[in-house]
Amino acid sequence: MKVIIIRYSEIHLKGNNREFFESALISNIKSVIKDYPCEVSRSNARYVIRNFDETYLEDIIDAVKNVFGVHSLSVAEEVPTDMKQISAAALSFAPAFGTFKVNTNRADKRFPIPSMEVSAEIGGDILEANPSLKVDLFHPDHTVYIDIRENGKTFVYGETIKAVNGMPVGTGGKGIVMLSGGIDSPVAAYMMAKRGMTLRAVHFHSFPYTSMQARQKVLDLAKIIKKYTLHMTVDVVSFTEIQTAIHEKCPEEYMITIMRRFMMRIAERIASMRGAGAVITGESLGQVASQTLESITSTNSVATLPVFRPLIGFDKDEIIEISKKIGTYETSILPYEDCCTIFLPKRPVTKPRLESVIKVESVLDVDTLVENALNSVESVVID
Ligand code: ATP
Ligand code: MG
Repeated sequence: MKVIIIRYSEIHLKGNNREFFESALISNIKSVIKDYPCEVSRSNARYVIRNFDETYLEDIIDAVKNVFGVHSLSVAEEVPTDMKQISAAALSFAPAFGTFKVNTNRADKRFPIPSMEVSAEIGGDILEANPSLKVDLFHPDHTVYIDIRENGKTFVYGETIKAVNGMPVGTGGKGIVMLSGGIDSPVAAYMMAKRGMTLRAVHFHSFPYTSMQARQKVLDLAKIIKKYTLHMTVDVVSFTEIQTAIHEKCPEEYMITIMRRFMMRIAERIASMRGAGAVITGESLGQVASQTLESITSTNSVATLPVFRPLIGFDKDEIIEISKKIGTYETSILPYEDCCTIFLPKRPVTKPRLESVIKVESVLDVDTLVENALNSVESVVID
């Protein structure tokens, strides 16, 4: 019978918490394959998927290899522990050409043949069936694995498929990611989900200055990252009143700085409403005027929760590489307006002094503007 073996990462390091991590992982695995009838069970620090329709093999693998906490997968043949059946299965995993070796693990010590002998015998069968192959015990092109389990069954497999690693979503607390239509913030969401965070998103739009397409683009990005975050709801907040007020009352070079502070205040309020303990942004030090240490200081000073900036030390090239890998790049580079691109000052301050920012901002009724924005929240559940 064809089965899928799932090995998990880091989790085994977690001592007493192991149960917590394992139950999050298994429920996440089950949720991504819920459309494919199958059985998932645990055996010795791994999971095994059985009884699935083989037409969906690739789809199941694709879904599971993106679940954080999964280290690798193998498609195996599970056979009764019997040399004839093991040999037949091993032949189906043997390469057509090149060098190979057989690697046997005998977990079931009641099985009388030592692992070295099993490897030698099965290797002999493979060579007999295809004499053009060569054995290379040290640097083989291919390895056929035989894993003799205690339950009278043996797994035979060839290739190991690498998965994403990380920690299971649901084990790292809850965060609110500030999601724009750009390249960076979806990558930031991915990075934090990878460390086990449960995420929601907040997006600020300035309708009618920004279009419905710009909003849709963000929801499309949210849908792509949901593949990793497993759940996703976007709180869409109207930023028009705030932007208009800043535009009318503050010196234009402070526009972006003050906008950022409002975004942070609102994101924090939403975080507490949603039971989240952190805010996440896609900032990268020095990337643009609003991401200098001084700018970050001025935004950060309105925050009370931890603000995670997983891309802070990344080059743009590195961020782009991840966005391509996770599938958000093509959507992120579609033309769009963001509320940060309207009323854009010609010369934004690059090193705002906090005292100056606070003074400039003092002409605004911050509390009322924040309350009004919170009243405009529309929660969009991504399915
Ligand atoms: P991104 O590519 O993520 O838009 P960026 O390089 O364009 O980032 P900025 O526009 O300065 O940088 O934004 C910095 C961060 O602020 C973003 O990564 C995002 O987390 C947040 N942000 C910016 N605009 C918005 C918005 N309209 N809604 C929600 N969050 C936003
Ligand atoms: Mg942006």
